[in-house]
Amino acid sequence: MSVYDEVEIEDMIWNEDLEAYTYQCPCGDLFQITLEELRLGEEIAHCPSCSLVIRVVYNPADFQSSTGETGNGTCVVAAA
Ligand SMILES: [Zn+2]
Repeated sequence: MSVYDEVEIEDMIWNEDLEAYTYQCPCGDLFQITLEELRLGEEIAHCPSCSLVIRVVYNPADFQSSTGETGNGTCVVAAA
């Protein structure tokens, strides 16, 4: 998948209404990725108004729950 850009999670903005991290899309809308998606290891944030996506750069450990109930069929991306 080709991504429009790579953005560090620190550079994204938490939006309480959307309950998602957001980043300005060139189309005028916002790329969005939810906390739930981050917990699942998702790293692609989608824009709802166009087909662009960005890759979110973050440390998955920061979003894992400490209960350790995950681990079902997650795919680990090893490429740097
Ligand atoms: Zn867009």
